Order: sequence, then structure tokens, then C-alpha cells
Amino acid sequence: MARVYNFSAGPAMLPTEVLTRARDEMVDYQGTGMSVMEMSHRGKHFVGIAEQAEANLRKLMNIPDNYKVLFLQGGASTQFGAIPLNLGNGSGKADYLNTGHWSVKAIKEAKRFVDVNVVADTKPTNFTTLPAEGEIKFSPDADYVHYTPNETIAGVEFPYIPDTGDVPLVADMSSTILSRPIDVSKFGVIYAGAQKNIGPAGLTIVIVRDDLIGKSRENTPAMLDWATQAEADSMFNTPPTYAWYMAGLVFEHLLAKGGLEEMGKINQRKAEKLYAAIEGNDFYSNPVEPAYRSWMNVPFMLADDSLDKTFLEEAGRQGLVTLNGHRSVGGMRASIYNAMPEAGVDALIHFMNDFAKRHG
Ligand code: PLP
Repeated sequence: MARVYNFSAGPAMLPTEVLTRARDEMVDYQGTGMSVMEMSHRGKHFVGIAEQAEANLRKLMNIPDNYKVLFLQGGASTQFGAIPLNLGNGSGKADYLNTGHWSVKAIKEAKRFVDVNVVADTKPTNFTTLPAEGEIKFSPDADYVHYTPNETIAGVEFPYIPDTGDVPLVADMSSTILSRPIDVSKFGVIYAGAQKNIGPAGLTIVIVRDDLIGKSRENTPAMLDWATQAEADSMFNTPPTYAWYMAGLVFEHLLAKGGLEEMGKINQRKAEKLYAAIEGNDFYSNPVEPAYRSWMNVPFMLADDSLDKTFLEEAGRQGLVTLNGHRSVGGMRASIYNAMPEAGVDALIHFMNDFAKRHG
């Protein structure tokens, strides 16, 4: 089996063990004579799969009992609109941190529904830094505060959780969820598209504190209302059953690997060695302030960008693929989510050193 090291920002690699198991169970799921894809979402087999997936996610993230876990559709982008509809029903004002491409998108969508107050903006630095801890002044009357703990494109990541006092904190964790342990109780809402650290694209996880459910604006579409979804156990309509099953396999796999403590150690080690390789060679550079460098998405530039194409071609021939940077920033980007083996990062570093020697 020829598996490449795929550095895509998402959809991203899944653990080979998970894909192999899904393949083995594909046609006849555990003696049922049918594929999970063919099962009624209300039948006992699928309900068992769904409940187990949720239980495993709760265990992995240590999610307190007063939070609901929703398995929804539409990607994180759908939640950009669902968040103001569900939470913006008090003062109608919300604080947003603008720290990169995905914050920009979340803000644009929220402005359709609430008064957005941008309380931190790192655009003037080209999104290469973040506000220091304690620096932001939040509005006491905001309905919520929204931020993006890891910006997938610029490769900046908050090393701390902003303290917003009594105002609920909402986090788009699409590209950092499950990468390390976090204290869920510090958040009002955590949401994430699945296609990086969870499973197939389309599935969207929303973890929401009980007291924030049931406050939506009148006219909120039922599908976007967390109360509807929570009451229906995320089965208000036909849920993305196969993606839910796949996510369950990933959760089980992560628990077997030692959970998020262990993933955090591995991810930190992977990121530190890649940044060290970039820093240690004049041929490469990373523009992000060291304290705020992402463990998951590592952008880097070649000293001579006319070599970008050659770099990508040669890397591809060695099974190191999708290293091109986002079209808005250029250069390279290595996304090294949970499923990227440490050996993949080692192979990339080896290639980078060799390439620099030959072309530098
Ligand atoms: N938020 C972040 C941080 C992302 O990286 C992405 C990228 O996929 C999105 C939101 C958009 O997610 P989706 O495509 O699931 O709507």
C-alpha cells in the first residue's frame, strides 16, 4: 500500500489504522450484513455507533456534563452564522478578535446579524502575531466573544485562553481541536469542521454549554438552532451518518494512543523540530512571532521563491505532498495534524535540508 505524507490543511490525513478498519467494516458492519452508510440513523446499530462516538469524544476532551455535544453538518462556516443567531439575542453586540483569514470570514458573516466590535486586530502585522495575554479590553455588555484559537492559513495559534469574565467565549477550533488537552469549562461554545483532526469534511462538531441553548433569535432556521438539534440528539434530520461513524473511529484510535496528553506531547515535538529546521537554515524562513507559532500549520518561505515549483515537484517525488502555501500567502505550508506521523515530519526535514544544500 503506497501512502504518501499528505501535508494538506484539510481535508487532511486520517490515521491509516482508522482507514483500514473502515475498509474492513465497509461492506458488512460487524455481522449486520450492511454498510454503516446503509443503516437507518434511528436503528439500534447506528444509534450505538453515535452514542459511542459521543462518549469517546467526551472522554478524550474531558467535556463536563453541563455541555451538549452536537454532530452537525455544513462545516464551520455554517456556524459562523449560527453563532450570532443562537447567542446574539441579548444586547445584539458581540466582540470578535480578528487574527487571520478565518476570523475575517466569521466576522463578515456575524455582521449580518449582530453589531460586531473588533476588540483585537492583527491585520496590520499581516497576521504574524497575536495580542498578548491580558491585553484585550472586552465589552462587558457583549452577548459573546468569538476567536479563532488556531489560524490555519497564517499559522498563528493562541498559547492561552482569553479571559472574558462572564461573557461566553466562543472558539472556532477547526484546526486545533484534539491536538492537545484543553479546559472545556473555560468556553461557552467550541465548534470545529471535522476535516482536519476529526474525520470526513462536512461533519461539524459543536460543544455548547447548556445555559447557552434555547436563546436563539426568532426566525432562526430550525437546522441552525442548537436547541432543536440538542433536543433531537443531532438527529432533527438525517445526520451525516458515515462521517459520524468515521469520527468515532478516530476518537477510539486517539484514546488507544494515550489520549490528548499524549497527542499534545507528540504534536509539540513535531512542531518544534520543524520550526528548528526552518530557523536553523538561512534558506527557509517563517514570519510568525515565535511565541504564537502554530503546532498544526507551519508556513515557510524559500529564500528564492523562483525555486518554489522545483521544491514542490521534488518533494512530491519523495511522497511529501500538498506542501504549497495557501494562495493568499504563497510559499509553503506543512499542516501536521494528529494523523501526520512523526516520521513524516522527519522525512520533510530531511528533504528540506537536502534541497537547501543542493539549491542554496
Ligand atoms: N475555520 C477554520 C479555522 C478553518 O481552518 C476552516 C477551514 O476549513 C474553516 C473554519 C472552514 O471550515 P468549513 O470548510 O468546514 O466550513
